Amino acid sequence: MDYAKQFIVTPGSKVDLTKIDAGYKDSHESHEAAMPEIEAYRDKLRDLQFRLYAETKQSLLICLQALDAAGKDGTVNHVLSAMNPQGCRVYGFKQPSAEELAHDFLWRIHKATPAKGEVAIFNRSQYEDVLVVRVHDLVPKSVWSKRYDLINDFERLLVDNGTRVVKFFLHISEDEQLRRFKQRIDDPARNWKISDADYKERSYWADYQKAYQEALSTCSTKHAPWYVIPANHKWFRNLAVSQIIVKTLEAMDPKIPAPTVDLDAIKKQYHAAEVAEEDGKV
Ligand code: AMP
Ligand code: MG
Repeated sequence: MDYAKQFIVTPGSKVDLTKIDAGYKDSHESHEAAMPEIEAYRDKLRDLQFRLYAETKQSLLICLQALDAAGKDGTVNHVLSAMNPQGCRVYGFKQPSAEELAHDFLWRIHKATPAKGEVAIFNRSQYEDVLVVRVHDLVPKSVWSKRYDLINDFERLLVDNGTRVVKFFLHISEDEQLRRFKQRIDDPARNWKISDADYKERSYWADYQKAYQEALSTCSTKHAPWYVIPANHKWFRNLAVSQIIVKTLEAMDPKIPAPTVDLDAIKKQYHAAEVAEEDGKV
């Protein structure tokens, strides 16, 4: 199945999250059954990222957005574990600092965008400024409502400068979120992840869905598409996200650069003995 085609928010269309099944897992029976496919994409990711890094001409920005416990951290872990840390960076965007708040909302984001050859993963992103900010009235509507266009223009700037931008919304159901919170309470190793705010935020569920719907509908563009990923099944989420990243990187088609030196001349000068031996074998 082509998940990029299936889960893309078609530019100009209106998203209705109530119509998207968060528990979808395609025809895969189980995690075990999907494992070979997941591993195959992991291998492809590794190879493509290596080529992107070697080429040093383009970059990839992956934005992850979701409600609490929807799997942003898990997705970062899955995608990154396939890549060479040297060419890959993760940024988590928390509540802005005083210094960040004293600048425009894209200031801190722009600084974190990937350089040529790099992959950057944003764990939360520029979209928080039309999500949590909107839901909690952190700035007036007259301010946040202008940000959709500003974000589209900003992403256009990145794309025009050689950065591919892909954005994933990890879609979980309300029940699944509660189940995951409970797991965090039951598992001592995960206790640290639970906060008071998590439960309080649940009472804003409908407001968040509305804010997400608008962000997804207004900011899925040809140059920087949004994908809505069914994420109740963690393994399916990993499969779909990695398939889409592989497709994106394949379309970018990074190429290992040609050598910048005369290999034959170097071989003759520094590896004369091996060359003679090789020649002798022929
Ligand atoms: P976490 O990702 O769970 O560590 O939490 C980070 C928190 O920072 C979340 O509650 C986000 O909603 C919040 N946050 C991120 N960006 C912004 C922003 N621009 N304005 C206000 N809160 C933000
Ligand atoms: Mg959290």
